[in-house]
Amino acid sequence: MPIRLLSSEVASQIAAGEVVERPASVVKELVENSLDAGAKFISISIADAGRTLIEVADDGFGIPANELDLAASRHATSKLVQSDDLFHIQTLGFRGEALASIGSVSHFTITSRVGSAKEGARLKVDGGIAGKVEKVGAPVGTVVRVENLFYNVPARLKFLKTDVTERRAIDSLVTRYALAYPHVRFKVTDGKSVTLQTAGDGDRRAILAALYGVDVARQMLEVMATEDPSTGSGQAALSLTGYISPVSLTRSNRKEITFFINGRWVQEVALNSAILQAYHTLLMVGRYPLTALFLEMPPEEVDVNVHPTKAEVRFRAQDKIFSFVQRSVRKALLAYTPVPSVSPQLWGARSVPAEPREIGIDWTMAGASVDSEQFPVTSNEGQDSLSTVHGQPSFSTGVPLLRLIGQIGSTYLVAEGPDGLYLIDQHAAHERVLFEKLMAQRENKNIPSQQLLTPEVVTMPPQSAKTLLEQLPFLNRFGFEVEEFGTNTFQVRAMPVLFSGGDPASALRALVEDFEEDESPLQAEVEARIAGRVCKRLAVKAGQVLTSEEQRSLLNDLEACQSPRTCPHGRPTMIHLTVDALERQFGRRGAR
Ligand code: ADP
Ligand code: MG
Repeated sequence: MPIRLLSSEVASQIAAGEVVERPASVVKELVENSLDAGAKFISISIADAGRTLIEVADDGFGIPANELDLAASRHATSKLVQSDDLFHIQTLGFRGEALASIGSVSHFTITSRVGSAKEGARLKVDGGIAGKVEKVGAPVGTVVRVENLFYNVPARLKFLKTDVTERRAIDSLVTRYALAYPHVRFKVTDGKSVTLQTAGDGDRRAILAALYGVDVARQMLEVMATEDPSTGSGQAALSLTGYISPVSLTRSNRKEITFFINGRWVQEVALNSAILQAYHTLLMVGRYPLTALFLEMPPEEVDVNVHPTKAEVRFRAQDKIFSFVQRSVRKALLAYTPVPSVSPQLWGARSVPAEPREIGIDWTMAGASVDSEQFPVTSNEGQDSLSTVHGQPSFSTGVPLLRLIGQIGSTYLVAEGPDGLYLIDQHAAHERVLFEKLMAQRENKNIPSQQLLTPEVVTMPPQSAKTLLEQLPFLNRFGFEVEEFGTNTFQVRAMPVLFSGGDPASALRALVEDFEEDESPLQAEVEARIAGRVCKRLAVKAGQVLTSEEQRSLLNDLEACQSPRTCPHGRPTMIHLTVDALERQFGRRGAR
């Protein structure tokens, strides 16, 4: 075939592939256009998870009738004139590609009116072929209607996931934009029902509640940090605001790590790891925080033009941004991460707390388990922030020597320390102990293992078996002897001595549960996470009676841990009732 120029329809269909991957990407482009147009109200209607209809209506400044056909052409934008402008972009769009792309793969109608016009105008585009601009009555603003997305690209249609998944992607996108733009009112309608609505009153926590539920929203910790530029011009060069979850609130994957830069939702591996580092050892294994963080920085410091959907960016000073994010998140976290001690109310029937959530947990900072040494990036600055946040420079990290009193409810150990009573969750404590021992043995490349008297054969569902097969090398490095024994069947011949008596099938199942396909490529992190899962499965359970010998050795082992106060998943292993609290409760000392 001779070389020839592609027709503009074919060219935009190819380009469309980059920007418009699924219904949610259409919603993203249209919402971003509305935000760029200064909209205060954005209303989104969806039918069939966006397959048959996506309509985005806004009250922004509109498009003049004589520019309407241009708006829908490729490389037509009002947001950029010369290439220099690329380096200080203030708008979400600038490529002039979205409308043309969407128009080339759908039945597309755009209706718009600017404030100075008496009437609006409408243009239809079908599969990239534009009709004539017509005058119509319309309110000021723009309505874009996208019907039968991908009707002319059957291959794309085949790649769409289930309606539930596509619908969820749209919801998750809109809620995130609602969070980023709390002063804009958002509404999503599906058929006749309103599925999301925000007030546009600037209250981010209310939007968090719509996203995660009231309970979670209430627990989220606020982040507010700025960094002044060295020039001393008085204007903050970097600012980070938003919310992060406390260590007790986690997810099994990193999908709830939301990050915006200058109002744009990005998926930046580097920023995600800055956040994870801030949580390091507090959540560790297999658990991830929820975040909704908003970074503002000078536009010329960040290149947003590296990816068609602009989900990735490049920083001019990546290290500076990374450490600013890491420090700010860590500071917020440290300010709120205590070991819970029990407040007197829990122990008395005198006062019935009105708020059930607040029952008994007095988040005092006494003996907080946060250990700054455990953060890989430890600077003097970090230390400063500790003392400024809490007004006290040092924390004890371990636990004092404890005297075992006994076990209650076959679930908790009771112990006495120099400063009061300790209730220890035997399962969480054992998880921590197993985890630290296993990781230490692994470090020394010496994980003693023990042959099972009779090898155990375990059968898995096909999908899990596939995952497990990929994880087998991990197991074998960690002192298990496991091999494939037939279709979806495995044989366990040996286990680490550490887990002796544990159920081998449980260990195998732990490897496949919660498994994420996009698990981090960082081998060490994955290993620690998987190790944590195995330890969780094989740790003694709540409800298991322990002999006093077992109780004592668990307590001793816990005392020897580096981070005895949390399990590898970040839950507390113990609750501390101070002598002071006891004395006040018994009326030996007046309430403060
Ligand atoms: P970009 O946003 O990159 O400029 P688009 O194809 O998304 O490219 O939009 C093309 C142009 O159409 C925009 O530059 C803008 O001038 C206009 N436009 C699109 N949507 C709207 C809207 N909702 N309100 C006002 N103008 C819009
Ligand atoms: Mg755009």
